[in-house]
Amino acid sequence: MNAAVPAVLGGAPVFAEAIPLTRPTLHLDDGLYVQLRRVLESGQLTNGSQVEAFEREVADFLSVEHVVAVSNCTTGLMLVLRVLNLAGELVLPSFTFMASGHAALWNGLDLFFADVNAETCTVDPQSVAESVGSRTAAIMAVHTFGAPCAMEALAKIADAHRIPLLVDAAHGFGGRYEDGSRIGSKGLVEVFSLSPTKPFSTAEGGIVATNDAGLARDLRLARNYGNPGSYDSVLLGLNARLVEFSAVLGRYGLPCVPEWVQQRQQLADRYRRNLRDVPGLGFQRIEKGACSTYKDMCLIIDPELFGMTRDSAARALERENIPSRPYFSPPLHRQSLYKRYANSSPGPLSRTEWLASRVLTVPMSSHLRDSEVDAVCHALRRIQNHAAAVQAQLDPP
Ligand SMILES: *Cc1c(COP(=O)(O)O)cnc(C)c1O
Repeated sequence: MNAAVPAVLGGAPVFAEAIPLTRPTLHLDDGLYVQLRRVLESGQLTNGSQVEAFEREVADFLSVEHVVAVSNCTTGLMLVLRVLNLAGELVLPSFTFMASGHAALWNGLDLFFADVNAETCTVDPQSVAESVGSRTAAIMAVHTFGAPCAMEALAKIADAHRIPLLVDAAHGFGGRYEDGSRIGSKGLVEVFSLSPTKPFSTAEGGIVATNDAGLARDLRLARNYGNPGSYDSVLLGLNARLVEFSAVLGRYGLPCVPEWVQQRQQLADRYRRNLRDVPGLGFQRIEKGACSTYKDMCLIIDPELFGMTRDSAARALERENIPSRPYFSPPLHRQSLYKRYANSSPGPLSRTEWLASRVLTVPMSSHLRDSEVDAVCHALRRIQNHAAAVQAQLDPP
């Protein structure tokens, strides 16, 4: 069989069995099992000392004053919007995961979608500035794929309008801003996800980071039904507590995060080097000095130059046993739930549409092997080399 021919044209697939698109990285050793066992035997499965210790350690790691651990990032975002008692509109990118928007809708807020920068994939401050109006209650930015968004420019807009700047930092744990500081300290609050597809996982979990003591206090109440302990509830909370097992996993993993993120960066560099000269393949731009977590390895496929659409490329990769995912496709304003906000933007969300039809993420995790990256790159190369035949095979005229 000809190794130069893509699987979709009859070549042997690059992988005999499908590799995962991502998988959680965990620090597993006997010490972890001893700790988990202690938690089990103690009978204190929630509301215990592990979560407290995890919060202190994360605050230290992020260099923020307060960390409130929650059950996941979605509940964290919901509670942040709740305790801020916002009303009106939230300005946010449409190019994000649905949870960013859901948190606002759960709080009865309306949405106003801002466009993104097509190179960085993060929300465009210019578009945010044009989107802020008299009904705007807050801005929510997103560190898309783990790359920090333009916080300085966004903070100026928020300050000028005296509205809070919140961050859905779901992808960002372990990344750094351009000035070298860790993602987590620049928004009024930054909310991380610790679910298994994110760079640092505690199975399920979320981290709310803030330097605002009052907000942290309210969030602690809010994650526990809004019950101050007297059973006289003072705000509409949820049960959004992180469980003790997750905190143990988190405490074990936390010291490894810098290494895990570095591994992802090295793999991302390898992808970039390997694919540099493939026509029609672009990459997310990471600002100078900034550090992405590479929650996702994002390719931007130009259908003209690559010779086929992003979706065709994904199908051809699937035949190579390589999973991939279009992102964020459909973007929020194209989803059924959000259609009523589709026309709320000052202009068409043209760069959001552009990216949503071109972004494809390919396998990435801290323990992906160099040889696996090379194989994915080889597959992409040979698919592109045979673009016309691949396209004809997938979509016969
Ligand atoms: C994963 C994700 C969330 C939700 O995180 P959970 O911990 O699963 O609730 C929110 N926003 C973005 C951008 C995400 O990718």
